[in-house]
Amino acid sequence: MAKDIWIGDVQNGDYDGQEVELKGWIKRTRGSNKIRFVVLRDSTGTIQCVAKRDVVGDDAFEAIASALIESSLIVRGTVNVDERSEGGHELVVSGIEIVGPVDPERPFPITESAMKAADGGETEFLLDNRHLYLRTSRMTTMLKMRSSVFGAIHSYFRDLDFVEYQAPNFVAGAVEGGSTLFEVPYFGRKAYLTQSWQLYAEAAMPALERLYTIAPSFRAEKSRTRRHLTEFWHAEMEIAWASNDEVMNHGEGVVRHIASTLLDERREELQSLGRDLELIGRYADSPFPRMRYDEAIEILQGKGVDVEWGQDLDYSKEKILTQDFEVPHFLTHYPKVAKPFYHRVDPEDDKYVLCHDLLAPEGYGEIIGGGERTWSEQEILARLEEEGTPKEAYQFYIDTRSYGGVPHGGFGLGVDRVCSWLGGADHIREVIPFPRDSRRVTP
Ligand code: ATP
Ligand code: MG
Repeated sequence: MAKDIWIGDVQNGDYDGQEVELKGWIKRTRGSNKIRFVVLRDSTGTIQCVAKRDVVGDDAFEAIASALIESSLIVRGTVNVDERSEGGHELVVSGIEIVGPVDPERPFPITESAMKAADGGETEFLLDNRHLYLRTSRMTTMLKMRSSVFGAIHSYFRDLDFVEYQAPNFVAGAVEGGSTLFEVPYFGRKAYLTQSWQLYAEAAMPALERLYTIAPSFRAEKSRTRRHLTEFWHAEMEIAWASNDEVMNHGEGVVRHIASTLLDERREELQSLGRDLELIGRYADSPFPRMRYDEAIEILQGKGVDVEWGQDLDYSKEKILTQDFEVPHFLTHYPKVAKPFYHRVDPEDDKYVLCHDLLAPEGYGEIIGGGERTWSEQEILARLEEEGTPKEAYQFYIDTRSYGGVPHGGFGLGVDRVCSWLGGADHIREVIPFPRDSRRVTP
């Protein structure tokens, strides 16, 4: 049953003039009573198969003539070089076997007109049929890009001897503020779904020193935006003996490595998504400038934006800032009042914390949040008290500072956001197979 020949390789010219057996699904079909043209697709590409009644015989011809879109089949034939065909090759069919037929009472619902009606956006109909929509070429392309992004993150950190480390998903406390915590019943108690791996990674920092993960994080995001999911994939790293600048070097390093990996592995996909390869090349090659929060506020105020010092920057402001950017930019040194307790206060000026956000260009906005962590026990207790955060859920975290605390830091990168930005998607939903938001947990 194994499959030996992939359509992508046939289109690459690996089988010109040869007899082959192709396995796949019908993408389109048309023709007459004498000749049928079936566009067969598999995970690597498409090819037009030409079946003539007088060659394949009546039974096979009727089978292929009545097979509907998304039927699965095995087709045998000869590969013909034909410049007029899409991809430059066609298959002259000698035999055919329908493996999984489609019931004419229930044809494949994702039609060209349903896609047109969605016009790049995603209608409720397409979201309801997500399990079938995954087979469309745009979604397939996004999923391949996504796989390369995951691979690039793993290879970046592993090549630098980071250890992959897992944290629990049921937790007792917030990392990013209580308003986006998902509460779950837990044997008569309350637990929460984790918002971040960070606090549990910091516990292992004295053991492993360099660690990373790619894991889901959960946030009850009520406001629906193009950049927020309730379950997203979070690439996080933590490193001992590192300053904010050194942590930023890794954020820059991993994003540039993702861009160059996509250029290596997914050139065709990038092009089919209408992406400018030169632009992606710039993300891979150019250093990412660093700018203090105060400077960003001045720029925004200079543009007449209503923003006050001390506010966190929401998407509307990030978008304005990034319009002038050619490559991602770091914003550093946010006011302490805008950030949670674990951010380390700047020893040179205690109004600020040693942190950073990385903003992606093309109007995209934040893809990374990170910084140095408060590492002395006294300081962490003072910050919790200042914030009015109860200590109980964080006792294990405070303990880690009581035994040999050292300077360290890390960041979290939104993997779906990076896919969305580099894939040129309009909405973060486009880059994840089964998106979760406040309205939808199905299919
Ligand atoms: P935002 O202000 O955009 O909600 P955040 O400041 O809450 O982001 P962090 O807590 O710093 O984000 O999380 C680290 C990274 O995780 C972010 O830079 C972003 O790329 C990603 N991220 C955060 N929340 C979400 C979400 N709901 N959906 C997708 N990605 C997210
Ligand atoms: Mg958020």
